[in-house]
Amino acid sequence: MANVAFIGLGTMGLVMARNIIEGGHQVTGYDTDADAVANHVANGGSEASSPANAADGAEIIITMLPVGEVVKRVLFDASGVVEAAGVGSLVIDMSTINPVETDEIRDGLASKEVRMIDAPVGRTSEQAKTGNLLIMAGGNAADIEEARPVFECMGDTVVDCGGPGMGGRMKIINNLMSTVLNALTAEVLTLAESSGLDRNLAIEVMCGTAAGLGHMSTTYPAKVLKNDISPAFMIDLAKKDLGIAINLSETLGVPLALAGMAEAVYAQAQDEGRGAQDWTALYEMLRQKYVL
Ligand code: NAD
Repeated sequence: MANVAFIGLGTMGLVMARNIIEGGHQVTGYDTDADAVANHVANGGSEASSPANAADGAEIIITMLPVGEVVKRVLFDASGVVEAAGVGSLVIDMSTINPVETDEIRDGLASKEVRMIDAPVGRTSEQAKTGNLLIMAGGNAADIEEARPVFECMGDTVVDCGGPGMGGRMKIINNLMSTVLNALTAEVLTLAESSGLDRNLAIEVMCGTAAGLGHMSTTYPAKVLKNDISPAFMIDLAKKDLGIAINLSETLGVPLALAGMAEAVYAQAQDEGRGAQDWTALYEMLRQKYVL
């Protein structure tokens, strides 16, 4: 059983703290919202008067706060965690924040001999309630192992993302994909309905192609990830189809913000002589410019 401090008892934090309590640990909670603290106490937790008070005697100090600025205040301001955190204690920031701030926070804690894991979570408050979050952990492998029993109260999947700061980076990359796909999904279904298609039929069709299955599980492993950019579906043809969709949307008066931006990426590939390559070669083009 561990002594855990939990700071930030909002939509996510309250139920995550409850699941740690149900896992048999002692959880001292702190939040600026008195109702949140009262709910935590009703769940069997105890109450702290400040972040420092919560951290006093805790082996693990978890933060689940809105933004990096608040995480910094809670840790480093007067009555903050570092005033009372014991040497060698472990801070786990599970908030979604800018990874550059994560690096600054980790350095600030290290100067006080406090360890840190960045461990933001995937999925939503529904999975937070049931203890089925996906936890993206960045830190030393031994620290992640030490935290694992507490992580397993909150999530069913704990991924060691490969070192300090990598949990936060993984989370932001993951959310870039899911947030842009959400906007694209909204545009695509709007265009489908305004074209006269039945929405459920359109969803069923797209769930059977790369449109709905996703490129990472279909076209990428089949082609570019194997360094094969011979055309299964040519960039020239993909761009032609994208152009027709943009034309259709203009005819219907349904503007597509994302399609025009994607068209520019295909045009760039054509300009670089890649028109006859597989459409997944867009990735090779960008990777050669910015990674290799
Ligand atoms: P929330 O706004 O519901 O909860 C944040 C809590 O922090 C609130 O209870 C607030 O009172 C408290 N707080 C604010 N300032 C404070 C301070 N100075 N000291 C102590 N407590 C303070 O937000 P949430 O939905 O629980 O999200 C928390 C983090 O988790 C965010 O970074 C969010 O991006 C991330 N996240 C949320 C979800 C989701 O589905 N809601 C999913 C994954 C990740």
